[in-house]
Amino acid sequence: MKVSELYKDNKKTLSFEIVPPEKNSELSSIDETLDILCELNPDFISVTFGAGGSENCNSTIEVARKIKEKYNIEPVVHLTCLNYSKDEIDLIARQLQQSGVQNILALRGDKVPNVQAKNDFKYASDLIAYMKSKYDFCLLGACYPEGHPESESFVDDIKHLKEKVNSGAEVLLSQLFFDNNYFYDFQEKCKVADIDVPVIAGIMPAISKSQLEKMVSLCGVTIPPQLKRIVHKFSSNKDALFDAGMSYGISQIIDLLTSDVDGIHIYTMNNPMVAKRISTEIHNFI
Ligand code: FAD
Repeated sequence: MKVSELYKDNKKTLSFEIVPPEKNSELSSIDETLDILCELNPDFISVTFGAGGSENCNSTIEVARKIKEKYNIEPVVHLTCLNYSKDEIDLIARQLQQSGVQNILALRGDKVPNVQAKNDFKYASDLIAYMKSKYDFCLLGACYPEGHPESESFVDDIKHLKEKVNSGAEVLLSQLFFDNNYFYDFQEKCKVADIDVPVIAGIMPAISKSQLEKMVSLCGVTIPPQLKRIVHKFSSNKDALFDAGMSYGISQIIDLLTSDVDGIHIYTMNNPMVAKRISTEIHNFI
């Protein structure tokens, strides 16, 4: 099923993101996580993909195939393009077709140090236009409620997002954020720019100090003072931080669901307990 179909009746979706096992790990190492995630019956599960270079994209495809065939849940495969040629993208697209994958989150990917970018795709919108012209996938695109870190201005970022949608992105998945006001402002900016596809809010509960610090340095997202105080207060008590971080994330989600959000995408960090607790707590709001 194409994920874009889900939003036709104004349904609010709940979906999860997982990271496939690394190159030298057994594929089955993710089975236990998948068992729990799929039992929660999400609308889809997205599977991340390397930015290109040394890693093996087969594990992304194999995990997606498993999600579809074993659990009958719709997978969305992330696909980056900066470090791939058209021929390489065609090869992956054919493997995805053979695996029954119908949905692709088409991304540029980050620049990888010491890897020379190929010249076929400069931006995600190039990949989206190419995939749209050659294949019949539902294409999703990434969006950034606080702006993409490389953007010169928010106005430019929104202009490029509009190009992404014009190229064929049917659904947008957001970068994580910890202050809903950024998301609500972003929704307004999308409206003004006439971007009228579903925009799914990406949420990552702050359950670990190191993970939070890593995400902030990678994505440049803002940590509100209240969350900073929570992390500081419980930094030496792992269980208390888990509880407090989950409560913060769940309040964020309930606030979004009682406002005008099209769906919630949980960055599970492969911790199925995060997804389980959120699903239980927000059940009545979906
Ligand atoms: P683009 O949409 O191409 O944008 C990149 C930058 O270029 C932006 O600043 C944009 O404003 C600018 N731009 C776009 N078009 C133009 C133009 N025509 N002229 C000038 N400037 C332009 N990375 C991975 O490696 N693997 C993953 O699995 C992965 N999953 C992700 C999932 C989500 C939901 C999100 C939000 C991000 C994910 N990323 C992933 C990270 C992503 O690859 C990086 O954020 C990357 O830097 C940008 O990718 P993009 O597709 O948003 O790029």
